[in-house]
Amino acid sequence: MNKKKIPDSYRHKGLRKGLVNELIRKGIQDQRILDAIGKIPRHAFLDRAFEEKAYQDIPFPIGNEQTISQPYTVAFQTQLLEVQKGDKILEIGTGSGYQACVLVELGARVYSIERQEILFHRTNALLKKLGYGQVRTYLKDGYEGLPRHAPFDKILVTAGAKEIPPKLKVQLKIGGFLVIPFGHGSIQKMIRLTKLSDDKFRKEDFGDFRFVPLLKGINR
Ligand code: SAH
Repeated sequence: MNKKKIPDSYRHKGLRKGLVNELIRKGIQDQRILDAIGKIPRHAFLDRAFEEKAYQDIPFPIGNEQTISQPYTVAFQTQLLEVQKGDKILEIGTGSGYQACVLVELGARVYSIERQEILFHRTNALLKKLGYGQVRTYLKDGYEGLPRHAPFDKILVTAGAKEIPPKLKVQLKIGGFLVIPFGHGSIQKMIRLTKLSDDKFRKEDFGDFRFVPLLKGINR
């Protein structure tokens, strides 16, 4: 990656405004989330050649068979987290880093785990370059969580899980949310678990989404 500053032109800002309006039309209401999406240069997270795709409401490949989530999905998952300033949030699946930046803009302290080494290094460099170096990133298997930094106010999984990782439930504070796309086929249900006590959770279902799979182990 070159050291040159990533340009953010009036054209980009205009496209971003269009994206925010599209998200409002699709039902996203939290103004803080809309402001964050209106501020973060999503084009910086995509290859230069695909810049014009950055402000369409679509997921997009970012290499290593991974995708930057669709803006609507990012906004939807973020809404479910009901982020409060100062919340300590664990994200599983750093990917492009875009979702982590949205959480930072909402005032969260973000810990984010990625299992793909190449992506991990690339995204680390990008986060620093964009001024989001405060995101704490880890090259680890998200199934394990981050026991040394637990408990977390909120945990967000951004890959499709065939099981709910038990260690993530343990690492959640009582009263906290675990938002996780869950299911056995190619489509997942967006699930929000609220931790009521050490072994009691309330489960809510927010409908169908499609994610790349949550996989075990680190890919070096
Ligand atoms: N939040 C990302 C979207 C990520 S796509 C963004 O804003 O761009 C899902 C990511 O989860 C991929 O990068 C994938 O490599 C990662 N992933 C899958 N299984 C994982 C695991 N067990 N631990 C950590 N990351 C994982």
